[in-house]
Amino acid sequence: MDRSVIQVITGHQQREGGGFVVRRPFPSRGIPNLDPFLMLDELGPVDYAPGEAIGAPDHPHRGFETVSYILEGEAAHADSAGHSGLLGAGDVQWMTAGSGVVHREMPSLKMQKEGGRMHGFQLWVNLPRALKRSPPRYQELRAARIPEATTADGLASVRVIAGSALGIVAPTRTHTPIQYHHWRLRAGASLKLSYPPDQRIGIYVFRGEATLCGRALKAGQLGVLGEGEAFMIEADSPAEFLLLGGTPIGEPIAWSGPFVMNTEAELHEAYADFRAGRMGKIPPEIVRA
Ligand code: MN
Repeated sequence: MDRSVIQVITGHQQREGGGFVVRRPFPSRGIPNLDPFLMLDELGPVDYAPGEAIGAPDHPHRGFETVSYILEGEAAHADSAGHSGLLGAGDVQWMTAGSGVVHREMPSLKMQKEGGRMHGFQLWVNLPRALKRSPPRYQELRAARIPEATTADGLASVRVIAGSALGIVAPTRTHTPIQYHHWRLRAGASLKLSYPPDQRIGIYVFRGEATLCGRALKAGQLGVLGEGEAFMIEADSPAEFLLLGGTPIGEPIAWSGPFVMNTEAELHEAYADFRAGRMGKIPPEIVRA
């Protein structure tokens, strides 16, 4: 059976971190989550003047994963597990907060000082109950390590951040089966994709306009696909989209700010653990970036 579009969500604007604005298709009034995905934020594209770039200073997470994908600009990060680094165009950071980390996500010092263009995504991937307390894990995928492929007609190409597409497989380790792909379509591209019926699929267009199963999606719109396997996506002019796919976890979600657990009691515990310093702190030897 072929899939069809069951919902189209237009991302709303939301203020996050130190006050930067993101475009957020979910969670929203239309869709609380895209199980196993909790949240998708598009930051920018925004042109920062010198001294204007803002990020998210030290804050905790527990119970899920944060995935940052930078298209333009430079992001600096550091966390209480001792990881730190600089992400540039095309780089991905896949952080499993698991039992708990404190991290900071900032524009690089260079961007804060000189300004520049920033464009990127943050995706939150939920963890099932059995893995919510797993040890924090951190994967940094430099642009060169993210496999790319192009269709035989040359009209569509894909960067495979997680999972597989066009026969290539991402090196990323995920806790549950996840597809995270960045597709670029040229004018006239027509793509037939197929995923097992147990995978939930969402398509977020962020440049141009694409037609998903006959439904037009503009930049900033998420198309949610229903049950089935194959589906078509086409573009009359250049377009780019993210494909998100995963097996729904199907458990209760208790979510408060930076913590995503199964019950309210576990959220109280998370706040108590954070306040007591049990999620650690960013080592002072990591330069404040
Ligand atoms: Mn964060």
